[in-house]
Amino acid sequence: MSNSIEQILNDTYGYSSFRLEQKKVIEHVLAGHDALVIMPTGGGKSICYQIPAIASEGLAIVVSPLIALMNDQVNALKTLGVSARTIHSNISLEEKRAINEEIESGTLKLLYVSPEKLISPNFIQYLNTRPISLIAIDEAHCVSVWGNDFRPDYVALKVLKSSFPNIPIIALTATADASTQEDIKQQLQFPHAKTFISSFERGNITVESRPGQQRIQQIINWVHQRKGQAGIVYCLSRKSTESVADKLKAQGFKAANYHAGMDSTDRDRVQKEFTDDKIDIVCATIAFGMGIDKPNIRYVIHYSMPKNIEAYYQEIGRAGRDGEQSEALLFYSWGDFLNLQRFINESQSNQIFKEVQTAKLERMWAYANAKNCRTNFVLNYFGEYKNEPCNHCDNCKNPPKFIDGTTYAKMLISGIIRTNQRLSMPLLIDMLRGSSRQEVIQLGLDKIKTYGVGREVPQLHWTQYITQLINQGIVMLDFSDGSRLKITPLSEQVLKGEMEIQLAEYEKFDPKNQKKTKVEKIQVDLSDMDNLLFKRLKVWRAQMAAEKDVPAFVIFHDKTLKQIASLKPKDNTELIRVEGIGKQKLADYGGDILRIISEH
Ligand code: ADP
Ligand code: MG
Ligand code: ZN
Repeated sequence: MSNSIEQILNDTYGYSSFRLEQKKVIEHVLAGHDALVIMPTGGGKSICYQIPAIASEGLAIVVSPLIALMNDQVNALKTLGVSARTIHSNISLEEKRAINEEIESGTLKLLYVSPEKLISPNFIQYLNTRPISLIAIDEAHCVSVWGNDFRPDYVALKVLKSSFPNIPIIALTATADASTQEDIKQQLQFPHAKTFISSFERGNITVESRPGQQRIQQIINWVHQRKGQAGIVYCLSRKSTESVADKLKAQGFKAANYHAGMDSTDRDRVQKEFTDDKIDIVCATIAFGMGIDKPNIRYVIHYSMPKNIEAYYQEIGRAGRDGEQSEALLFYSWGDFLNLQRFINESQSNQIFKEVQTAKLERMWAYANAKNCRTNFVLNYFGEYKNEPCNHCDNCKNPPKFIDGTTYAKMLISGIIRTNQRLSMPLLIDMLRGSSRQEVIQLGLDKIKTYGVGREVPQLHWTQYITQLINQGIVMLDFSDGSRLKITPLSEQVLKGEMEIQLAEYEKFDPKNQKKTKVEKIQVDLSDMDNLLFKRLKVWRAQMAAEKDVPAFVIFHDKTLKQIASLKPKDNTELIRVEGIGKQKLADYGGDILRIISEH
C-alpha cells in the first residue's frame, strides 16, 4: 500500500516526498481508523484525505465550511485528473443530476459537501446505500465553541459517527489548543480517534513585531521594498481597511480593501483579482480569511494587534503556502490592547468566556512585546515544547540590547504610589515628564514629588519601558479599574533595592533605516534570461487560467514555473521531475511548456 500512496503523490500531484505527518495519517486512514489531524496552515492537510480517497474504492465525502473553499479544491483536483464535485444548497438541478450519475457509475472520487446539506436526513440515507470510502471534516475547529471560529452548522456533524459507524472519519484543523482538540473529538463523537500533531513551526516565515508608531509610513516603506509581491494587511476596523488601502493606492500601489460590510460582488472581485495577481495588496478585516488559498502570498502585516495567538498564527499562516521565504510583520500598541479589551467587555458573551478571551488577549500582548524567540513563544503556547532559537524571528536575528532600567522602574513605582494608584499610563507618563497639559495641572499632578523626574526620557520610550515593566510583573494594569497602573508585590522589592531591572533598549523607528535584512533573500535568484522565461511562462499561465476559468495557481504554482525557468527541461522525462508536475499536467501542458522553452 505504502508504495502506491507514494506513487499517487508522484504521478498525480508531481511531488517527490510527503511532508510532516502526511504519510502516517494517510496510512492510518487507509487502515480504516479515525483521525484528528492538527497541521499548520499551508502544511498540506488536503492531501491527508485526498490520497486515501484516490487510493480507495468508493466515494469520499469532504465537509468544508465555505463554498469558495470547496470550489477551489474541486478545480485543483480536476486539473490533476481526479474526479471531484461540490454539492450545496445552491447548485442547479442539472448539476445534481450529473453528480448522481457519477455516483451511480462509481466514477466520482470526492464529493465536497456543505455541513447543512450533508446532515439533511434524505442525504444521509442516500449515502448510506452507496460505497463510501471515508468522511473528511476540514476546518474541524468550527465544531468547538472553544475554537477560533465556531459555526453552529458544524454541531450537527455529531450524527456522522453513528450514521456511518464503519467509515473512517478524519477531522483536520490548523487551530486547536489542547482543550479544543479534546472538544473536537467529543463533539464529533470519536473520543478515541488518534491525534496527529505536526510541528507548528513555519520555517519559511520570518516574524517580526514592532511598536505601532507611524504605521502608515512604515507600511509604505515596507511595500516599496517589496514591489510586485503579494501581501495582506490585516486591520481591526472596516474603516481602517479603507484608509490604509487609499493611502497605498495614492502611492501608486495596486491595493484594495476587503471587509464584511462590502457587497458580495465587490468582495468576490477583490478576492479574484488578488488570486489572479492583478492586485498586490489587500487591506482587510479578518473577514478575508479561510477562503484564501493563494500560494504566493509573500507577507502578512498586522496593522493592529489581533485578539489572540490563534488568530494571529492562522493569519500569518496565509503567507508562504508555496514553501518559499515569506514575512510576517506585527504592529502593536497599548491602544490596540485597550480596544480589544473593550470589545471583550462589551460583548454579550458570558463571564467565563470573557475571562478566557481576556487571558488569551494578554498572551497576545506578551507575544507582541516578547524579547526572546517569538517562534518558541507560539510553539509553547500550542503545547509543543521547544527552546532552541528559531533563527527566523526578529529577536533571534537581532537580539535586543538591554539597559539597566532600575532607576526608571523606581521613578514609575514611586509615581504610582504618590498618586494613590489612580492614574492611567498616559497620565503617569505626563506626570513623570513634567507636562504642563491642562489635565495634569487640574489634577494637581505638578505638586507631586515625582513630577518631572523622568523628563529626560521621551514619551515613546516611557511607553515601551512601562509595557515591559508590566510584562515583567513589576507593576500591573488593573482592567477592572479603568486600566489604572498599580503596584505588585515585586514593586516593593524594586523600591527597596532588592531587585535590578533589565529593560530592552528603546527601539527607534527610523523611516530611512529600516531593517531590510531579508528582502534580498526573497528575490528569486534567476539570471535575467531566466527571469524573462519566467515572465513568458506567467503570461501563458494567465491565458490558460482565463480559458479554464480557474485561478492561475491551479494551473501551476510560481514555484513550479520558477523551476522550469531555471532548469529548462528539454523533454517530458525532464519536465516531470519538476516539483508540481504530475501525469495529468504533463499531458495537458507539457507540449506548451516545451514549446515556450525552445522558442526562448
Ligand atoms: P492546508 O489545508 O494544510 O492549509 P493545503 O492542503 O492547501 O494546506 O496545502 C498547501 C500547499 O502545499 C498546496 O499547494 C499543496 O499542493 C502543497 N503540498 C501539500 N503537500 C505537499 C507535499 N508533500 N509536497 C509538496 N507540496 C505539497
Ligand atoms: Mg486546507
Ligand atoms: Zn526565534
